Amino acid sequence: MQECPVCGTNLYANRETEFVTRHIGQQYRFCSAEHREEFENAPGEYVGA
Ligand SMILES: [Zn+2]
Repeated sequence: MQECPVCGTNLYANRETEFVTRHIGQQYRFCSAEHREEFENAPGEYVGA
């Protein structure tokens, strides 16, 4: 199970989701391309790093 770090949507049942990015060696999945972009614009706001 994994959640979209931006909005908290559960992604475990959303196997088609391919909105993925990497940040400091970690892979993150998102509910949408929009939230992936938000994360990439300010990853520190979501992972505290
Ligand atoms: Zn989201």
